[in-house]
Amino acid sequence: MSKLSAVKGDLAKLDRHKLELSRPGVFILYKSNLGPPHYVGRDEVSMYLGMGEFRNNPDYKYYKFLPCKTGDDAYKWECIYWHTGQNTLDNSAERGGKHPKRPAGSTVKCPFPGCTADHDLDIEITAVVLDDPSEGSSEE
Ligand SMILES: [Zn+2]
Repeated sequence: MSKLSAVKGDLAKLDRHKLELSRPGVFILYKSNLGPPHYVGRDEVSMYLGMGEFRNNPDYKYYKFLPCKTGDDAYKWECIYWHTGQNTLDNSAERGGKHPKRPAGSTVKCPFPGCTADHDLDIEITAVVLDDPSEGSSEE
């Protein structure tokens, strides 16, 4: 079972040679050492690359990370942390953030109880298929 890192790292000193960061996973950013989580993100290739975008952002000082085996796993954990962090996250739904997007081409579902984000996606995908004008018209 994957586990969130126990100790916060210093985002400004993010080490690209740290092997555990060169894997898919979820990262959580903090503004202070004792404060609540303020951002949840993931990278399906390398957490180092995902967090690198925030390294020079003065809002965020510390990070924790959770290595995952696959992009789908990273998505599921990102969903869980995103849902449970709604009160303090800068990218919460209330503060203009969006529900995490599932990996391209994946059918993985958000594991958070009662969440319907993926159901909306299913409807959109179905609608696109049903409205495909190339179907039928070629037989006329
Ligand atoms: Zn969800």
